[in-house]
Amino acid sequence: QPLDELIASLTVDVPDHPEPGVLFRDLTPVFADGRAFARVVEGLSAPADSDPRAAALAGADRATPTFDVVVGVEARGFLLAAAVALSAGVGVVLVRKAGKLPRERISADYVLEYGTATLELHSDAIRPGQRVLVVDDVLATGGTLAAAVALVEQLGGVVTAVSVVVELAALGGRERMAPHTVHALWTT
Ligand code: 5GP
Repeated sequence: QPLDELIASLTVDVPDHPEPGVLFRDLTPVFADGRAFARVVEGLSAPADSDPRAAALAGADRATPTFDVVVGVEARGFLLAAAVALSAGVGVVLVRKAGKLPRERISADYVLEYGTATLELHSDAIRPGQRVLVVDDVLATGGTLAAAVALVEQLGGVVTAVSVVVELAALGGRERMAPHTVHALWTT
């Protein structure tokens, strides 16, 4: 079964969550299915397969990871990023919601449908020149991932790929992420 169909078949649509009018895609059954989770992790780990920019960076050897570290966005991005990092043999770095990280940190504000929110990253979490794969579960408007990418780049990290499980195409997140190409396992 193609991976996008597998993800679609396990995703549960929840109308009017968390606000009236929002159709929330619940991916927790995808994570709970061992075979699906393994394929999702494998797919997120291979952005070069669909991302020309990552492919160019990878050069001839597609088997070599194009990243030195994986960044996950709180909270569902954490479990994906950890699994991807483990399978690629690299470390995992946390982008957290405001007020959670204990040491010197940088912050990025971003706009939500209602109001704003803040993401943070430890100032020493990324070294200049490090190649970074940024991972989250869902790309909606792109505000969250754009803020995460901005934090990584502020520390001198080179974002070589952005991978998500699901892209909600109507919300325009892909356009917002330019010039970064988004590698989505399922676009709907
Ligand atoms: P954005 O900033 O792109 O508008 O929203 C993406 C963030 O909100 C992601 O961190 C994602 O976890 C969460 N999100 C937005 N819509 C959905 C959805 O329908 N399902 C899930 N699981 N998460 C969503």
